[in-house]
Amino acid sequence: MKFKTFLLFGAPGAGKGTQGRIIGSIPGFFHLACGDVFRSLDLRSDIGRLFLEYSSRGSLVPDDLTIKLWRQTIDNMVVMGRFKPDIDHLVLDGIPRNLTQAQMLEEHLDVKKIFHLSCPHMDKLVERMKRRALKENRLDDANEATIRTRLETYEKETSPVLNFYGQHRVAEMDATLWPYQVLRDILSHVQTD
Ligand code: ADP
Repeated sequence: MKFKTFLLFGAPGAGKGTQGRIIGSIPGFFHLACGDVFRSLDLRSDIGRLFLEYSSRGSLVPDDLTIKLWRQTIDNMVVMGRFKPDIDHLVLDGIPRNLTQAQMLEEHLDVKKIFHLSCPHMDKLVERMKRRALKENRLDDANEATIRTRLETYEKETSPVLNFYGQHRVAEMDATLWPYQVLRDILSHVQTD
């Protein structure tokens, strides 16, 4: 059985997490952010150390490991009854992040719509990331060089994923608006039948 899925898509700092948390609080939606899964790992474990090594350089964690961890997390959520695939829609944020991941997830996901939070102003993204680094203790956002690398990784590896799913499934959102306006825009495109 494939999970009915909405993808939150956009550069680091575009506001995927903010929107995902709000939508995930609505009954019938289950939000899972891949970055949150990584950050919740014990950083002394092998996989936790690997995450630190890659994320602090602004790089992606290897695909096999990422998909395996994602699958384990989803399975746990199903067992615990937090995600009920027969009635809930999955709202994914931060995954898939490249074409290989998109292909690996094909067998699990029935992607209904992709919300592309786009922000043409790179400087605005950098500002947002610096602010959140202070608030959330995020090593990958701690210095400007790493931030720039993350934005380059996004352009090079992640943005081609949009073409993989096809423009007919992509809804473009202006990520520079206020969160409530972006939310209104997203919800206006949500169809759950
Ligand atoms: P943001 O919300 O700023 O886009 P995330 O919190 O999603 O960032 O991710 C933080 C870090 O975790 C990334 O820089 C990357 O190293 C790692 N990561 C998160 N999701 C993935 C993924 N799908 N594949 C590989 N690495 C990932």
